[in-house]
This record gives sequence, C-alpha cells and structure tokens, in this order.
Amino acid sequence: MSEMTSPPVDPNEDPNKDPKDAEALACPHCLKPPSVCVCDAIKPIDNRVEVLILQHPQEQDRILGTARLLALQLTRCTFKIGLSWPSLSKALGEEADPNQWAVMHLGAVHGEDLPDEGDVFVLDRKGHLLQGQERELAAIRGLIVFDGTWSQAKTLWWRNAWVLKTRRIVLNPKQPSLYGRLRKEPRREGLSTLEAVALALSRIERNPELEKGLRSTFARMLQRYRDGLKQGLAELMDGVSKPKASANRPKRHWGKTRRQSADSAP
Ligand SMILES: [Zn+2]
Repeated sequence: MSEMTSPPVDPNEDPNKDPKDAEALACPHCLKPPSVCVCDAIKPIDNRVEVLILQHPQEQDRILGTARLLALQLTRCTFKIGLSWPSLSKALGEEADPNQWAVMHLGAVHGEDLPDEGDVFVLDRKGHLLQGQERELAAIRGLIVFDGTWSQAKTLWWRNAWVLKTRRIVLNPKQPSLYGRLRKEPRREGLSTLEAVALALSRIERNPELEKGLRSTFARMLQRYRDGLKQGLAELMDGVSKPKASANRPKRHWGKTRRQSADSAP
C-alpha cells in the first residue's frame, strides 16, 4: 500500500527546516542524534540467512529504536517502511518462497508448551511446535520481523496475509533485554528488534558470534544514551524523537520549540 525503500535521510524531512535544528544534525545512516550514533563502531556481520525488516510508518522510537541499526550491520538485510505488501517477493524486492521463510511470531503459542530447553523454536503455519527443531531451524532461508510497538506490529501482521504462509519463530529468551528500564513500552518478549533477530539468527545459523556482535553494538548505543542522560541531554534527545508524533502542529512552532530546548541544554 504505502511502500518506501530505506532512504539515506528521513523521507518526512522538512526541506525548509532550520539547519541548527537537532533533526538536521541526525546521522544520515542511523538517523539518530550524534550523541547516540554508533555508526563508526559498526562492523558488518556476514549473515547467511536473509533478514527482512518491515517497519510500521508510525514507529516513533528514533532514539532507542534498533531496526535501522540492525539493518546497517547485517550484510543480507532488507529494510522497508510501510503497512502492507502484496507478497513476500514484493516486500523483499526479489523472488522468494514463503515456505522457506519464517516470521518472528507475535503472541501466545497454542497447543504445546515450549520445552524448557532452548530459546528459539520453529512453529508451523498454525502456530504448533514442529518436530525435529534442529532440522527445521536449519531449513530456514529468510527471517521476517515487524518493527514497531506491539500494536503496530500486530497491525502489520494482519495487513500482510502472506506471512500466514511462512513458518513462525518464537523466542523464549534466557537473558533480559539490554534496554533495562529505558524502554517504557513493553515489546515482544521485552527484547528489542535487534536482540530478537540476533537471538533467532544465531540459532538458525548456529553462530553465537553473530548474536554477540549485534548485541555489543546495541550495548554501545545504550551506553552513549545513558552517558547523554547523565550529561543532561535528555531534553534535547526527546526533542528529536517527538516531531513525527505531532505532524499536525505547525512546523515553525515545533522547530522553534525544539531550538529553544536545544539552547537550554547545558
Ligand atoms: Zn549513525
């Protein structure tokens, strides 16, 4: 329906904005303010299994969101913003067989309880645990993840009926999210999109280094954010994350407001 490929800069960017505007200072790659950008530390991760990130257009978390950071690290990753696509191939931009792909599952698993052993499981199209988990994991050629709040991800799920043709990956993470108390809104298993994909990919590819590499970049970003909070930059950072939430407000007004908050930061 509304589809955009990953742009180098924010597509909603106001060309007439004040160059001093905090948004204008955002990194062109991760779109985060310089205070939390970790692009200089990104080491490409050569993943074998393709990842398709579909981000809800209203996903607001530009400071602590991880989808773009994930996409920047993975060598095989497609990042799209939109609400619906007619098929997996259309979303991916190349031919793909949904039978060989899996979607990161939302919500409860019905039927069987998950085994105590293990943290990543493959379910069939109806949400039932498959026999031969090792074999099923190894057979996955691509992974789809919906990025957004819980309700945004649910919307994406229902708007893209073709995901019902794919298998499902469900997580039972043994370690908590690195977000700690930073994240206000609970998301899938409490993990960030980056952490969820890192865990799933590392099990599918049987490569623990993959998860370590992805998580360390995320940890670095959170450390920069926490350092920023300590330095009293919270107000400035909030200003960067808010404009899309108030699209109906006059641009000039919020531009001015944010400039003021930038000025008032020590
Ligand atoms: Zn960056």
